[in-house]
Amino acid sequence: MKYLLEIALQFAANINCQKNGCMECRVCINTLKAKYPNLRILDPAGSSILMEEIQEFIYSMSVSSINNEFKIAIIKEADLGGSAFNLLLKTLEEPPDEKCVFILLAEDINSIIPTIKSRCQTYNWIFKGSAFENYDKRFQDFKIELEGWLTGIMSDRKNISGALNFTGNVGIFVKEICGEAVKRQKKESEKIKKSGLDDDEIKRIVKKLDEKHKREIKKITNLIIMHVFDIMTACLEDIIAAAAGSRQEALHYPENYNIINESFKSENINKYTGLLRVIRENGIYLNQGINYEIALDRIVLGLVQH
Ligand SMILES: [Zn+2]
Repeated sequence: MKYLLEIALQFAANINCQKNGCMECRVCINTLKAKYPNLRILDPAGSSILMEEIQEFIYSMSVSSINNEFKIAIIKEADLGGSAFNLLLKTLEEPPDEKCVFILLAEDINSIIPTIKSRCQTYNWIFKGSAFENYDKRFQDFKIELEGWLTGIMSDRKNISGALNFTGNVGIFVKEICGEAVKRQKKESEKIKKSGLDDDEIKRIVKKLDEKHKREIKKITNLIIMHVFDIMTACLEDIIAAAAGSRQEALHYPENYNIINESFKSENINKYTGLLRVIRENGIYLNQGINYEIALDRIVLGLVQH
């Protein structure tokens, strides 16, 4: 997040600098220090963005800019979401005036609510040592396993208990990854407690760390479920495409072509477009703390015959 903020500040300096972002003038220097009147930064204090925080922030963007420059709003941890984000959505659609620029920062683009994402231009950076880099290999392995389970469910559609295990298996993976994060976090907190700082200072830091940790767990969970939803979407799209007479090469998983044609002949396609909708809706609300298990069960049971 630190690097992201630096990039955002440089970008912000570029917008208002008279010399193409010289990084030397007063505008550039103060913007880079994050101390500039036409710059506002929303840095959520808790594990979700609060209504009051967003309201205050939006209000501050309605105040007219100084020197007719752009008012730049940087929202840190935009992937936290929360219901307050709906307010922001309105402001992104209809900013208070034409001098507003909103910059949303997130560690993973998939954790941004699609309705917000679709209103933004996106830029991606990959940082070495970022929080999720360590999970890449694990996510890859998990993805392969997940694809195998779904193929299994599609080829043996009478095996309801097998299908029901699916959500449980996803839950185990989420628990495992989050469990490791919790362990790491505990160590971090212990270190602070033994640091010799005075009690009030320790309390304050530990409280801040706790909030940070909660956020990390939430982000990891959302990220995993988004991966699961993506793979399920691909499988459902394949079923629909194959039923519509699509060629094997056109599928996301061409190797499933025969299984789909054998197991899903003469099926009502509406059912599967309905399941795609379930994924889309749940994806949107994922950041608002929905119970993903119900959605997973519903989709996977839609694939079996019962
Ligand atoms: Zn400058």
